[in-house]
Amino acid sequence: MRVLVTGGAGFIGSHFVRSLVRGRYPALTGHVVVLDLLTYAGTLTNLAEVRDGVEFVHGDIRDAATVATAMAGTDVVVHLAAESHVDRSIAAAADFVTTNVVGTQVLLQAALDAGVGRFVHVSTDEVYGSIDEGSWPETHPLEPNSPYAASKASSDLLARAFHRTHGLPVCVTRCSNNYGPHQFPEKVIPLFVTNLLDGRRVPLYGDGGNVRDWLHVDDHCRALALVAEKGCDGAVYNVGGGTELTNRELTGLLLDAAGAGPEMVEHVPDRLGHDRRYSVDWSKIAAELGYAPSVPFAQGLADTVRWYAERRDWWEPLKPR
Ligand code: NAD
Repeated sequence: MRVLVTGGAGFIGSHFVRSLVRGRYPALTGHVVVLDLLTYAGTLTNLAEVRDGVEFVHGDIRDAATVATAMAGTDVVVHLAAESHVDRSIAAAADFVTTNVVGTQVLLQAALDAGVGRFVHVSTDEVYGSIDEGSWPETHPLEPNSPYAASKASSDLLARAFHRTHGLPVCVTRCSNNYGPHQFPEKVIPLFVTNLLDGRRVPLYGDGGNVRDWLHVDDHCRALALVAEKGCDGAVYNVGGGTELTNRELTGLLLDAAGAGPEMVEHVPDRLGHDRRYSVDWSKIAAELGYAPSVPFAQGLADTVRWYAERRDWWEPLKPR
């Protein structure tokens, strides 16, 4: 079994690779190849603990020749490489289109040419837009609002098209907000935790009433392994965590964890086009593949805060001073 993980030096990808190399997904055991460009968001430090168990290819998913070489002989692709930060897509969207859309098309074509047995395209709940009440099923229309979400929705449609047109055995996953160790300190939880560790205030967007569902990265990666092993060709699977919080509530929990008071919150103007609420209905993956999140949020958050407290060596070089 040869498993190609794109974006395997980033937050979620490196968690998946560390788990894979340590034998936590027995159905996928074999040769692990990571293809990653090592942008600002990717670092080999994330793979240091399992470096001997990984073949690392430093390359760009937009580069067809590099991708064809990395893809040769691959059985399973888990595609996580992406530009992933909404705020960056608002400031400048070009890399989001070239990496997330064109890069995915290059990978799908190479997977088709190489005859891979499974292509897991890792997407996001943000493709559905914003929902005031209830939860989206996988059949809900795609109504992305940020350039990031639009680029992910575009890549989802390309993945669908490669299945429908060419019969490529693609599965698409759409998960909620991940948290855990090794997340780049621009995303809300590591940004707030590291600011508080440094005695700096945390910037809370707008009225803080935006709602997100939180999913521990370990649960997400287990879901990806299940989909890689048992997913139906052409299917879409939502993956949720079951912990919905407003950003205000999340901020309160992080202040408590750091022993800080409300004076450490800096209210800043809302993000442009800020989606109010995300909520996926993940009953399909639960019923068909036996997925259930297993990390209680309070425990996962406490572990994550502790990891950042202990790993200044990891995040300090990544934060603007
Ligand atoms: P990340 O930003 O931490 O990591 C992305 C990785 O992709 C990095 O290692 C980077 O070097 C690599 N990369 C970027 N452009 C590349 C290119 N052109 N060629 C090769 N490699 C490239 O992202 P993440 O948070 O780990 O997210 C992984 C995937 O999961 C993304 O597709 C993202 O859309 C999706 N997702 C993330 C979340 C979340 O909460 N983090 C939620 C839903 C979906």
